[in-house]
Amino acid sequence: MYPLIQTAPCHCYSFAYTIHCKLTGLLQLMIKTFKHSSIALCLVAALSACNDNNKTVSAETEQANSSSIVAKELTSQDAEKFLTAVEKEIIALNLEGARAAWINANFITDDTDILAALASQKSTESGVRFAMEAAKYDDVKVTDDQRRKLNILKQSLVMPAPQDPEKSAELARIGSELNSMYGKGTYTNKAGEKLSLGDMTATLATSRNYDELLELWEGWRTVSPAMKSAFVRQSELANEGAKGLGYEDLGVMWRSNYDMSSSEFAQELDRLWGQVKPLYEDLHCYVRSELGEEYGEDKVPQDKPIPAHLLGNMWAQSWGNIYDLVAPEDADPGYDVTKQLAKHGYDEIKMVKGAEKFFTSLGFEALPETFWTRSLFTKPKDRDVVCHASAWDLDSKDDIRIKMCIQKTGEDFNVIHHELGHNFYQRAYQNQPVFYQGSANDGFHEAIGDTIALSVTPKYLKEIGLIDSIPDESKDIGLLLKMALDKVAFIPFGLLVDQWRWKVYSGEITPENYNTAWWELREKYQGVTAPIERSADAFDPGAKYHVPGGVPYSRYFLAHIQQFEFHKALCEISGNTDPIHRCSIYNSKEAGNALNTVLEMGASQPWQEAYKVLTGSEQMDATAILDYFAPLHAWLKEKNQGKQCGF
Ligand SMILES: [Zn+2]
Repeated sequence: MYPLIQTAPCHCYSFAYTIHCKLTGLLQLMIKTFKHSSIALCLVAALSACNDNNKTVSAETEQANSSSIVAKELTSQDAEKFLTAVEKEIIALNLEGARAAWINANFITDDTDILAALASQKSTESGVRFAMEAAKYDDVKVTDDQRRKLNILKQSLVMPAPQDPEKSAELARIGSELNSMYGKGTYTNKAGEKLSLGDMTATLATSRNYDELLELWEGWRTVSPAMKSAFVRQSELANEGAKGLGYEDLGVMWRSNYDMSSSEFAQELDRLWGQVKPLYEDLHCYVRSELGEEYGEDKVPQDKPIPAHLLGNMWAQSWGNIYDLVAPEDADPGYDVTKQLAKHGYDEIKMVKGAEKFFTSLGFEALPETFWTRSLFTKPKDRDVVCHASAWDLDSKDDIRIKMCIQKTGEDFNVIHHELGHNFYQRAYQNQPVFYQGSANDGFHEAIGDTIALSVTPKYLKEIGLIDSIPDESKDIGLLLKMALDKVAFIPFGLLVDQWRWKVYSGEITPENYNTAWWELREKYQGVTAPIERSADAFDPGAKYHVPGGVPYSRYFLAHIQQFEFHKALCEISGNTDPIHRCSIYNSKEAGNALNTVLEMGASQPWQEAYKVLTGSEQMDATAILDYFAPLHAWLKEKNQGKQCGF
């Protein structure tokens, strides 16, 4: 399995495979496997007459455009038969694949690796077959519901293969190679120690030695230049595949997955970023100034972007690890959740029971007995397991579990709430057809988990008897700053990874300019710079898993925006009168009801419908994140007075 690749609060998306986080159906499994296994023979003649499968195209329009003989022979009844058969097959495949993956992650051996790979391969091959069949209905008049299901089958391809079998096999091989290069990447330091990414990530989080940080930052980036030629070829091939499916390029195809046109989606992200930017700029200004004091202004010039190795994270994507360097002087909230857990006799099970109570207080049913007997809560002494926290849904019904090596800390108490958020989501949409058993858009699942975690406030901790009193508001700045270092700091990074890839796929960024363009975007959006000049052969985007891994990234940007909006909306529904950052929806049946309505919808409707249930609007809006951090923003502005901000 792949190592932990970041230590951000979200303990699912940071992992290489989203499958382990929200394993909710074959579709997720397909997304995993399509990226780097045999897409050979995929989408050949069947897709050659394919139109743009934008979801907004109506059945009537499609019929009018119909020119295919095959299409004329197929009917809506055929589509229904096909979808019914596929659904049955997916349920069986999904159960088999999920069991193999679960056993593999809980008992890592050569044998379970092989069993999991075989199950995964089987799902991939089936998924390709389903997509090919689904595409035959592009020009057939079908119902809206059938169209949605057919599109979901087709759009589950992340790296679509070209129609040429040789090229398809080549694309599959490249995907595997890139994953393997990343997963096996190591750096041998000056002291002769061979370091894994996990080792280096841990040091990046804790070391305050400028030269040591620089060595490791640069060291990890010696792994990626070898990936560049493979990435170039992968982009060419997947672009060809996307064109075969009727899209201009792969970036357009990825952006077409959001119930709006691809250009509208790009504009939406820009608009949301524009809302958050003033808050980010003040956070950046303050952090740069504090880092200048720590390392010297010669190393952290106060009028330039921040050197990327000093922010506590290998990719400078979330900055919570350097909280100690930037914490306000009187930030101590007066309690330590880790100590309080010990004082109140919380073991691992009691921590999970506590988090479960959060959900039952909202009106959700208690977790099933099998959750308690089948989950993994503690690190076994006698075998290798994947310790990274994750939430599972084995049978798309009630067999939900978490897998986590729980540490008895305040941070893990929070993570358990997040993971159970996934589990309750999974269980809520169990009555949907299998096609719709998933996130309303790909940001929702993480956003829901995080929304719940945002309610783990001092008020909540007091209500469950873990702390004796709620600190007064003067202590909020420390908590808010820590949160902003993780969540606000992430937002421009969450945007730029796909900004870069979209331009690569459209041809605007050419291979000679890959690295230069990458750093231009990082400076423009994040105000972060490479700490040393990059060599001509550097391929720094490849040092971030999702690039060689072929995993779209916009979902993380969305999740960071959405979770604050969901939190704010649920707080309003619960009748909260506190500032939004102090609110917890604990015990609110009204909030639980609204949440459940959205969770039950799964992916059955355009995500805007789900959004409307909670927020009253079909449009995303970053105002909630600004409201949440308003006291911090005012404080930052005061701290930044007289400073030259901007980058
Ligand atoms: Zn998660």
